[in-house]
Amino acid sequence: MKRNFQMHRRPSSELRVFSPSREKGGLDSREAAKSRRELEVAPHFFLAGRGSPLASIASPENFMRTKFNRREFTRKAALSALALSLPRVVADATTTASAAESPPPVIDSHTHFYDPTRPQGVPWPPRQEKLLYRKVLPADYRALPKPTPVAGTVVVEASAWIEDNQWILDLAANDPFIVGFVGHLTLGADDFPANLERFARNPVFRGIRIGPDAVKAALAGGAPMRHLHLLADRDLCVDLLVGPESLSDIAKLASAVPRLRMLVDHVCNIRIDGRPADTSWERGMQSAGERPNLFCKVSGLVEGSDRRDGKAPTGIEFYRPVLDVVWQAFGADRLVYASNWPVCGIFASCATVQTLAETYFAEKGAAASRKCFYQNSRNFYKWTPRAPAQGA
Ligand SMILES: [Zn+2]
Repeated sequence: MKRNFQMHRRPSSELRVFSPSREKGGLDSREAAKSRRELEVAPHFFLAGRGSPLASIASPENFMRTKFNRREFTRKAALSALALSLPRVVADATTTASAAESPPPVIDSHTHFYDPTRPQGVPWPPRQEKLLYRKVLPADYRALPKPTPVAGTVVVEASAWIEDNQWILDLAANDPFIVGFVGHLTLGADDFPANLERFARNPVFRGIRIGPDAVKAALAGGAPMRHLHLLADRDLCVDLLVGPESLSDIAKLASAVPRLRMLVDHVCNIRIDGRPADTSWERGMQSAGERPNLFCKVSGLVEGSDRRDGKAPTGIEFYRPVLDVVWQAFGADRLVYASNWPVCGIFASCATVQTLAETYFAEKGAAASRKCFYQNSRNFYKWTPRAPAQGA
């Protein structure tokens, strides 16, 4: 067992810095300091390289159907929100919105939970990342102040250990706050089909997250591509933890497998400095946004500032150039709010992160807000509500 873990163990993972050009294994603190964002980059980034994944299929009609359903969804959701506003179960520990205000439910579509104190430890985060290296569970997240109560979350894997998929699913079994889980399975691995079969039996399991090497492997065909098709066959989806240099690859992949829903994490991990957005990233995002099966998470903003110790700017203007690009590229139907907590906590409070998104989307109108904080997550992941506050 130990030996098994060893194979997958990699020092860094999510907390490692994401180098825009090429990701390497290992957490180099100098590299981390100088660069940016992705505190994420999970272990599989490094594992996947060797024999990973790949890609896809096609059939636009599936997607058209999704689109059609979406409209109906929105209508139904609006009705159910009304119904819900009575004994609104606020899963969050924050203020209880009055029924009269009836704000849309907020789903945080990217959180991480783990426990370094368990006997086997964790492959991530690294011990030296003090703010992260502690037991982090849903109750901790719920206790954080937030501008609007959060009704549920989609948990994203923070470990490439196979049994950690089960660990999160077990956590979810006792906590309906977790509406979905994006797990880790290695595309192209011999045991991928069996593992998928096993975990997908649990409806909370909504897909997997892959990195740039897996994207390339999938584009090369073979087992990785076949495995993406297996996900699509089950109506599951893929989170893409990549940087700007992968934008053309993910656009290709989205075209190659149009019936597979894919989502770019953290606005593709662009560095954010308050100035006009990088033009090549902007072109890449626009091109990616032309693929109707590609969604984008509005997350990783404060991380993109690379200002640690809670020093990320709290005003929307600093992030606006990047948000405007994302809005133009993906629009109101394919942007999904997420905090990336606890990673975001290195740069800003969870309340700040949520407030930034609420401020930006409020400018786009109530309908857009509702979609980005709730409906798009539901359309993309197709999670099923597990508590009244999460909709009908
Ligand atoms: Zn994350």
